[in-house]
Amino acid sequence: MVADPLQDERPLERQRGNVVQAERAGGAEHAADESAQEPAKSTAERTAEGTKGFTGRPPWTLMYHSVDSDEQDPYLLTVSPERFARQMDWLNRRKLRGVAMSELLRAHADGDAAGLVGLTFDDGYADFPREVVPVLRRHGFTATAYVVAGRMGGHNAWDADAPRKPLVTIAQVRAMASAGVEIGSHSLSHRRMPGLPAEELALETRRSKELLESVVEAPVAGFCYPYGLFDDAAMGAVREAGYGYGVGICHHSGTSRWALPRCYVGQRDGGLRLRAKRVRHTVRGLGW
Ligand SMILES: [Zn+2]
Repeated sequence: MVADPLQDERPLERQRGNVVQAERAGGAEHAADESAQEPAKSTAERTAEGTKGFTGRPPWTLMYHSVDSDEQDPYLLTVSPERFARQMDWLNRRKLRGVAMSELLRAHADGDAAGLVGLTFDDGYADFPREVVPVLRRHGFTATAYVVAGRMGGHNAWDADAPRKPLVTIAQVRAMASAGVEIGSHSLSHRRMPGLPAEELALETRRSKELLESVVEAPVAGFCYPYGLFDDAAMGAVREAGYGYGVGICHHSGTSRWALPRCYVGQRDGGLRLRAKRVRHTVRGLGW
């Protein structure tokens, strides 16, 4: 029996066993509906175009949370600065360029995403400006940071049993955007979205978008589901709020632009494991 070298390193969402399968049909229907329209194109719409034509695999996209030197990391959300730097070096040596999701999806729409890898960071931890931005800059990479709009300047209060970690402030979010980082929404309060009433879903999607747009003074095109959990209603709320795309994590089947899969990357991912994950993505068409 061959052991799966990746099986024991699962993101928070998987460890907690809260997995909601995406309905394959939802996103495809919406994409078909909207393809008939010819409005003036916003950034969100141009980004959305990049995900309409998914007939094969979506582009490889890495999912990070915190880059820091924490000893305590019960949910495996943290990668050390040294490990992160080596992972970015690994991409660079393979002539892969890390880019923000909007850039990745536009390139995908143009058939030009070969050699690009999406870099995404969930929760908006305050270590991002200190530990991530200098490494990105060194390589000429960009990234997307998904910020919890109602928690800027606060801490990760939604993980009561995890080490308390500070989150980026409004000023830091603005500075990150100025530095070329794409700012996306990770909801208003980091609640689980499946089962929420429609008005609460609207609040988590629409209000967080408005707040972040007022901070960065630019359209916010991307939404990232808290805990990677979504259902049809949540995807519908993201679409209705005017986002161009949504990202989940990698365990759902099917791909719509409202729930793009990503590949978890952790502290144990050296070159061999990254290579294995990339191969798996290529062969299976999955985010892992
Ligand atoms: Zn999160």
